[in-house]
Amino acid sequence: MPLRALIVDLDSYFASVEQWINPRLRGKPVAVIPMMTDSTCCIAASKEAKKFGVKTGVGVGEARQMCPEINFVESTPGEYIRIHHEVIALVENVMHVDEVLSIDEVRCDLKGKWRDKATALALAKEIRAAILRRYEGHITCTTGIGPNGFLAKLASDMGKPDGILVLEESELPQRLHGLKLRDFCGIGRNMAQRLNAHCVFTVEQLCASSRHLLHTIWGGIEGDRMWCSLRGEDVDRPPTKKRVIGHSHVLPPELRHDQGVHSVNHRLLQKAAMRLRKMGYCAAGLQMFIKYQDHRGWSDEIIFTDTQDTLALLSAFEQLWQRRPSRHQVVPHATGVTLFNIRPAAQVTPSFLTSEATRGRLCAAVDDINISLGKNKVFFGGALGALDYTPMRIAFTRIPDVETEG
Ligand SMILES: [Mg+2]
Repeated sequence: MPLRALIVDLDSYFASVEQWINPRLRGKPVAVIPMMTDSTCCIAASKEAKKFGVKTGVGVGEARQMCPEINFVESTPGEYIRIHHEVIALVENVMHVDEVLSIDEVRCDLKGKWRDKATALALAKEIRAAILRRYEGHITCTTGIGPNGFLAKLASDMGKPDGILVLEESELPQRLHGLKLRDFCGIGRNMAQRLNAHCVFTVEQLCASSRHLLHTIWGGIEGDRMWCSLRGEDVDRPPTKKRVIGHSHVLPPELRHDQGVHSVNHRLLQKAAMRLRKMGYCAAGLQMFIKYQDHRGWSDEIIFTDTQDTLALLSAFEQLWQRRPSRHQVVPHATGVTLFNIRPAAQVTPSFLTSEATRGRLCAAVDDINISLGKNKVFFGGALGALDYTPMRIAFTRIPDVETEG
């Protein structure tokens, strides 16, 4: 089976970026934390910190115990996004990026003569060299090459850090036997328990399991997909999930009341609407949730005609808002809105009956002002009171857009 996928995964990404932009931190153990407080957890650790056992999810106090010399730095999402785009451009100079898997990971499909092992390795070396050159060795990557994306991803995990690793069909499945079940994409804690319940405890047992058994354990086609992936088959990726654009926020203490929830959601929806327009999409559904301090929650959704107009979305929002339960005694804790039923604006038949065409120009003008002059220069009044409370947040799985978020 030919080599079909190449994955470039940046090593200790957030921590490496911090060391790149701040030379004082180079060569030192660094942990990136979301805010400067002892009550938080590390979201990334530099390779020097990893040697002490510090990794994502370790609490600040615990990290300090593991490594008294550790340097804590507050995350700078804007920098991670800027360099993410730079790295994509560097890879694109060598070969086309087919999919951005996360903020520090991209997949390139190998086609034609690129499927030859020597050629694929040469491409990987070229990408590695370009990244080394640009960041003077302070941001590095590991490249995994395999017969499908699943195995290329495993190869990149096995080759870390700063490595290039090829997994060939002829090495399957023996080369995987040293891994743990949880190392595999698609096997989380629950799935590992289900596998154990069917007497599958090791990767060797997983690889030897019948297709029928994996189908049963996964409860459907995902099990077949795993069986095929392990054998290097070119498995069709599942259709992408229903696209949604959503924002949520844990309320700051001063906004933990009904009006605060309204203002925050108003602001979050204006952000989501701006992103929707930037992507060139329309939405036909809005969902809202409120979580209360007694751990109970409320959520509801509303469907409407496809739109990307902030005023139309805000009017749907107000209808949804009226449906919330009146729980005066209970303090709200977190809230959020999500736009769903999203499709490209080009596929939507424009409305002839509303003034949305004119309003489209209004929304575009508002977006232009906020992009060129800074966020919140123009906004719909309902967000007043929550303007400073919906900061941009960083996630591995989604790359925030600096212009529309923040
Ligand atoms: Mg990485």
